[in-house]
Amino acid sequence: MSAQRIDGKAIAENLRGRIGAAVGALEKAHGKTPGLAVVLVGEDAASQVYVRNKGIATKEAGMTSLEFRLPADTPEAVLLDKVRTLNADAAVNGILVQFPVPDQISQQRVIDTIDPAKDVDGLNPLNAGRLVSGLDALTPCTPLGSVILAKETLKDLTGKHAVVIGRSNLVGKPVAQLLLKENCTVTMAHSRTADLPAICRSADILVAAVGIPEIVKGDWVKPGACVIDVGINRIDAPEKGEGKTRLVGDVDFAAAEAVAAHITPVPGGVGPMTIACLLRNTLTAFCRQNGFVEVEV
Ligand code: NAP
Repeated sequence: MSAQRIDGKAIAENLRGRIGAAVGALEKAHGKTPGLAVVLVGEDAASQVYVRNKGIATKEAGMTSLEFRLPADTPEAVLLDKVRTLNADAAVNGILVQFPVPDQISQQRVIDTIDPAKDVDGLNPLNAGRLVSGLDALTPCTPLGSVILAKETLKDLTGKHAVVIGRSNLVGKPVAQLLLKENCTVTMAHSRTADLPAICRSADILVAAVGIPEIVKGDWVKPGACVIDVGINRIDAPEKGEGKTRLVGDVDFAAAEAVAAHITPVPGGVGPMTIACLLRNTLTAFCRQNGFVEVEV
């Protein structure tokens, strides 16, 4: 048996289309469009690509994209002032500071300074706490995208045993909370978990968010499971030529594909969902800030 590949690119495109339609309808009704501000500190090449792609997707969805680029030696106080200015700007509905930030800046202080109502990355402790409490919250984008993929694939997740490998605030913990909200029975695994392969083998839904290339082997996967691979790892690919690299996930895709019923590829699985969910959060934040009825997309 070969698993069905979950087409994150197509699902994300579809979601972005629905968001664009909702933005158009809201503009027609209220004469306003959502605004997303992205702040980049420094010259990190990968971050520049992410920020550019976010800007393009924001405009494609009919939203206003504001980009702020600050030099790598920006003092923390200057960045925090920038965030406070954006907090106070009514035309800005969502704020995203691209991480990582240079060493002189505390990532946590940046997260703490963003107005929770505009925290479209969902990392502010207020949003994290609201998610745990089962209240409306802006939710981190990659976890949200991962769970949407599982729901699009399996429809009802009720009663499934979900194993989440990884317990970061950015991915593992919010994924677990979202799966709990979908009535899964959730097990969280991490670097100190005893007999990880056995725990993974009991998973109907296996989410890997570790950051170790292909750590999840084929025989860790329960036959018929749904595998969501969040990992993005660049490894050497001498078969493509000297100095060449390729992207792999945290799951040994070829081996797991032979056992699972559904699996996300890397690239083309969870990755495209992250920007789509950023737009979704910006739309949600815009509706809440303006007192508009929230659009289900
Ligand atoms: P992270 O903060 O480094 O967390 C990694 C987690 O994996 C930790 O909880 C760690 O456990 C656990 N872990 C490490 N080694 C392990 C092992 N041998 N066995 C079991 N668990 C182990 O990473 P992250 O930010 O959550 O990201 C995880 C992966 O997702 C990375 O590959 C990252 O590139 C990718 N990612 C993708 C997207 C996307 O858009 N698709 C977005 C964000 C992240 P401890 O807590 O015990 O140390």
